[in-house]
Amino acid sequence: MRIDIVSIFPEYLEPLNVSLVGKARARGLLDVRVHDLRAWTHDRHHTVDDTPYGGGPGMVMKPEPWGEALDAVLADGEGIPELIVPTPSGVPFTQRLAVELSAAPWLVFTPARYEGIDRRVIEEYGARLRVREVSIGDYVLAGGEAPVLVMTEAIARLLPGVLGNAASHQDDSFAPGPMAALLEGPVYTKPPSWRGHEVPEVLVSGHHGKIARWRRDEALRRTIAHRPELIAGADPAAFDKRDRAT
Ligand code: SAM
Repeated sequence: MRIDIVSIFPEYLEPLNVSLVGKARARGLLDVRVHDLRAWTHDRHHTVDDTPYGGGPGMVMKPEPWGEALDAVLADGEGIPELIVPTPSGVPFTQRLAVELSAAPWLVFTPARYEGIDRRVIEEYGARLRVREVSIGDYVLAGGEAPVLVMTEAIARLLPGVLGNAASHQDDSFAPGPMAALLEGPVYTKPPSWRGHEVPEVLVSGHHGKIARWRRDEALRRTIAHRPELIAGADPAAFDKRDRAT
């Protein structure tokens, strides 16, 4: 997969050189290219923003640098990418969307600053390629770089070969499948006893069926406690089928 990111703070994207995403890049599983939007400005101050039409506080990102930047990125590749525009007014970024985007060969992210990007940029590229406006949550950050880090990591860990054990993301909270509506329950490792806290007995029983059912019950308990609204999407028939299979 190829990911291009156009930003006025390329250095903000440096965490993409470390850990899981950094390793995926080093192994050639992910090609990330970070571009400085100011490279496509032509004035002495490398201006990327201007006052909003209609008045009001804040500044708006000018369409010209974005247009030149995106034209250059699109011209430097084969095929047509999907354009991902981070914005608090976008559709929620979910595990389902991460799975969908992980199947795309090429994504271009446009993290903005100020009050966002002049709307005509979305209109212009919406006519040529698939544009998705995406929010990482119901709060407002100062810029789209942190959302791009979040989305890139969520997508990258789903790419074939990136995680040592592909099954590890299949059991995650929100992972599509019979447990999709449930959060993941608690996890434990050695030692079996720590400061008087014991690992639940069932986990050391070696009984796979009982362990699976315990995990399902804990997932239900945690979902009811933290995200009760998710339970409505749970499918009890899928749980029963899974129980019968274990
Ligand atoms: N005035 C805008 C609004 O209320 O929708 C907020 C602009 S915000 C200060 C600047 C930029 O940060 C946005 O254009 C977007 O790129 C990014 N951003 C902030 N919060 C975000 C969120 N929750 N999800 C995705 N991107 C976000």
